[in-house]
Amino acid sequence: MAVETKSFTISTRGHCDIVDITPQVSNKLGQAEIFSGTATVFVAGSTCAVTTIEYESGVLSDLKDAFERMVPEAIHYAHNARWGDGNGHSHVRAAVLGPSLTVPFSEGAPVLGTWQQIVLVDFDNRPRTRNIIIQIIGE
Ligand code: ZN
Repeated sequence: MAVETKSFTISTRGHCDIVDITPQVSNKLGQAEIFSGTATVFVAGSTCAVTTIEYESGVLSDLKDAFERMVPEAIHYAHNARWGDGNGHSHVRAAVLGPSLTVPFSEGAPVLGTWQQIVLVDFDNRPRTRNIIIQIIGE
């Protein structure tokens, strides 16, 4: 068994920007010396999350609306009162969705459903540059 760690950077617009990172993840897995195993896709940041979704405009809009219902932006947050950066909702949304995804990969490619893409969801209230780490365990 071996471990490899790779990373890449992307820019987002913030405000629940949902970015399809499947091409970058697939590219990094294709470059790995490990052929099959498990990949953890992790974003380093407390206002950003990683999940999978069907990347089409209807469901992307539905996910944004669902987060606005579950964790509304325009309510009181103790974080905002303390720090004044206005992104209390971003931190809570990111904690709910989580910063990482575990995906199996085989023959150098992630094993995904036909309509299943790996996405980064940036909940922050401003554009950000994000570092995504892919740690691969396998052989
Ligand atoms: Zn904050």
